[in-house]
Amino acid sequence: MSEINQRELERIHWLNMALSLPEEGVAGYFPDERSRIERLSEVRWPQGPTCGRCRGTSITWIETRSLFQCRSCRHQFSVTSDTSLHRTRLPLGMWFQAVESLIRYREGFFGDFHMPAQALAETLGVQYVAARRIRKVVLADIDIGGQGFLRSAVCVRAPDDPTRGYRI
Ligand SMILES: [Zn+2]
Repeated sequence: MSEINQRELERIHWLNMALSLPEEGVAGYFPDERSRIERLSEVRWPQGPTCGRCRGTSITWIETRSLFQCRSCRHQFSVTSDTSLHRTRLPLGMWFQAVESLIRYREGFFGDFHMPAQALAETLGVQYVAARRIRKVVLADIDIGGQGFLRSAVCVRAPDDPTRGYRI
């Protein structure tokens, strides 16, 4: 594939994501941590939560710990266990905000430039090093060829995600 086509494809990819963001913004659309957990759960397990250890589907929710528990093997797991956000200590709201910011920023430059880590640090109110790590994880997920876990969660206006399946 020629370089020009790749660039066009990337622009389309980023434009599609921008058009799929919630109109009222992620903070308005996902007002609390619970709504973000529910959304990620829906994206990850369309048929309902599944135990990563025994594949059991009889799962309970432990409200006080924000964890799922498998009724068969007692394994406890979060909605981000074994994903790119595994063991994250950051609130999900920060990840959602980072996704939105990175998409909006790049859209402003016709899909050609990523938001610098320093700008993301200022937006999120975190240290530069943390922002750099968040940026890396988010970009790996939402860019072409990425797993799309966060992308699918945040880009809510894409009932039939047109970016899925792109490979360069
Ligand atoms: Zn289990």
